[in-house]
Amino acid sequence: MIPPTMSAFEATSRYFNEAADLLDLTDNMRKLLLTPKREVQVQIPVEMDNGELSTLIGYRVQHDNACGPMKGGLRFHPEVDLDEVRSLAALMTWKTAVVNLPYGGAKGGIAIDPRTISARELERVTRKFVDQIHDVIGPDTDIPAPDMGSNAMVMAWIMNQYGKYHGFNPAVVTGKPVEHYGMPGREEATGRGVGIFTVKLLSRLGRSPSETKVAIQGFGNVGSHAAKFLQEADCQVVAISDVSGGYYREQGIDISDACRHLREHNGSLAGYRQADAITNEELLELKVDVLIPAALGGVFTAENARRIQAPVIIEAANEPTRPEADAIFNQRGLTVLPDVLANAGGVTASYFEWVQNRQHYQWGINRVRQELDHVLSQAFQTVWETATERQVSLRIAAFMVGIGRVGRATILGGIA
Ligand code: GLU
Repeated sequence: MIPPTMSAFEATSRYFNEAADLLDLTDNMRKLLLTPKREVQVQIPVEMDNGELSTLIGYRVQHDNACGPMKGGLRFHPEVDLDEVRSLAALMTWKTAVVNLPYGGAKGGIAIDPRTISARELERVTRKFVDQIHDVIGPDTDIPAPDMGSNAMVMAWIMNQYGKYHGFNPAVVTGKPVEHYGMPGREEATGRGVGIFTVKLLSRLGRSPSETKVAIQGFGNVGSHAAKFLQEADCQVVAISDVSGGYYREQGIDISDACRHLREHNGSLAGYRQADAITNEELLELKVDVLIPAALGGVFTAENARRIQAPVIIEAANEPTRPEADAIFNQRGLTVLPDVLANAGGVTASYFEWVQNRQHYQWGINRVRQELDHVLSQAFQTVWETATERQVSLRIAAFMVGIGRVGRATILGGIA
């Protein structure tokens, strides 16, 4: 996570201001676009399985709704705090705008480690949280989704608990189980999107996938699906990692084999013997062509930025690059595909799920993949062209596209 030298929100605001300068945005407009619409912090008292009382804190920050209902994940992680949620909520506003979805941005979080509690405890925490926020979320106001530490099961609980207050309405939350108003293709969408963008970027840079070595930090939902897509696209995924450490194989790792290991070992790569063990830090500094951080935020810092050897970085995680590291990457001429674009496949698929829930009509996986490819391709092209025309990094170009759209929607909607 981002260390206390600069708060997470200050870091996101820094990119915002750089893009806003290029868009000649007035100070008053900047203030309006940067200020979250609403921040909710609630107490969640829950009885644990052993009968003890535990008091947790839950957050939902609703950043902006000029382009539509606010949208964003719900994060369960011990380091969640208001500043981080605020920053991630703002990021969602720019992300949904970059891919041109009819949404604004929001984010929620509960400071808890879901791996240390039982499924029943997690369900109680989730339902209690919904009890506290049900009147500020809804299919036309704010639609939660999975994020780090939460999953489809949690989304089903949210839908069910919300329904107790407001009646049946599956569109209140996305990323639900496929057999319970969810959508085939939602779970893979963030990783698949990362893969789609990587292949597009390689083509713009004149590189062929078959000559591309990729290292992926994080082998959860996003990292593993990105790895699968890239292997199918002919890239060589030479390194992967999770909390148990990194795994490196110069000739490429067989991703289906690694996924099988994951299934057989409770979701962990620990003990994976088909590759050499390395540390997560060593993985980041490997001499590869593409590096994909797909785990926590804040992995690239002023301390390690000069040692990164990959010329291309795809930000599958949210906020993996500290602003100081970003400046070093720019100075060194590295190409960084920013989080607001790189991981937008997830929220794009969420949008498809929401549309289908509202129409009570279900698409097949082929249509989901086709539409995902279409939306992401357009977004990529717009950001690439903006970066080329304005001679700015892809990150600043993506912020310019996002801020431009939200700014116009704000003015068109009227402020008074
Ligand atoms: N949590 C994901 C993100 O950060 C997905 C959000 C959504 O689907 O609403 O983009």
